[in-house]
Amino acid sequence: MAHDDTAFRLLAELTGLSGVSGQEEPLRTALRDHLASRVDRVRTDALGNLLGIKHGQPAGPRLLLAAHMDEIGLVVTQIEGGFLRFARVGGADLRVLPAQEVTVHTAQGDLPGVVASRPPHVLGPEERRRPFRQAQLFIDLGLEEAQVRERVQVGDFVSLRQETVRLGQAFATGKAVDNRASLVVLLRTLDHLQTMAHAWEVVALATVQEEITLGGAYTGTYSVRPHVGIALDVTFARQPGVADEEGVAWDRGPAIALGPNIHPRVRERLVETAQRHEIPYVEEVLPGHSGTDAWAIQVTRSGVPTGLLSLPIRNMHTPGETVCLRDMERTARLLAHFIAELEPDWTP
Ligand SMILES: [Zn+2]
Repeated sequence: MAHDDTAFRLLAELTGLSGVSGQEEPLRTALRDHLASRVDRVRTDALGNLLGIKHGQPAGPRLLLAAHMDEIGLVVTQIEGGFLRFARVGGADLRVLPAQEVTVHTAQGDLPGVVASRPPHVLGPEERRRPFRQAQLFIDLGLEEAQVRERVQVGDFVSLRQETVRLGQAFATGKAVDNRASLVVLLRTLDHLQTMAHAWEVVALATVQEEITLGGAYTGTYSVRPHVGIALDVTFARQPGVADEEGVAWDRGPAIALGPNIHPRVRERLVETAQRHEIPYVEEVLPGHSGTDAWAIQVTRSGVPTGLLSLPIRNMHTPGETVCLRDMERTARLLAHFIAELEPDWTP
């Protein structure tokens, strides 16, 4: 299907680029081009947030659509022999790091590496039963110590390396699907808006540092001064080991969040829009801090009425994050209709 192909192509391209929290530049450079062809103006702020502004009616209110650019990764903390010690940036799952291929981003360019660990044969029976601790893992570059010291510096960022592939007809798996899938939704929403009139100005904000501090969403929202904000992120899809109450169904459309982090009228309007256009959706109750950019948006300045749309994914914070391409297209369609139908005088 044509739409799925577009979504998959964009997802494969964006997940193939690195953007570890604090070093989002490789992704930002490519995303800037994609955004520039879909909006009236693009700018980057001091922290590295990317903002794309698409005009509505003159003096119309402003809607913020935010999706984070950054991904979980690693950072070099020490060079030991020819090997690299590292710390995690964001919540990478230690249990699946051994044997993971990585890219070390040095001042002189990228180096491929692999997360090495002691083979099972040399582990005692107790050790074999437990997952590796951080101190037992290191990155192997296949270089002599002198070569490593010449090229790698403490503080260099490291991203996971994983090709994004299709699963079945409508699914895709890879690294950094959290949150590149939402960036694709952002781009696809803007595609729909090329042929739809809208009174509200739309500011597409690709945020930095969500995985560590939500820093980009705080500063970005502060400068945009939106009348309404919507964050786009991922949530837990049900899978073996993730019970019904811990996750939401996938391939049933986006999860529309409700709870104290969400403005009830924004949520209600998203639900009404989905129903009017027969776009499937599920509901997700978040009893507190959503752990997403929606939190930062809601409490910036004197507060912003905020909504949250999440794509259900499996295997979160592993290199095998899996998403439904149909859910991505449904979310983009929902957002485009939501935006096009906002009256100039609507307030939540
Ligand atoms: Zn995320």
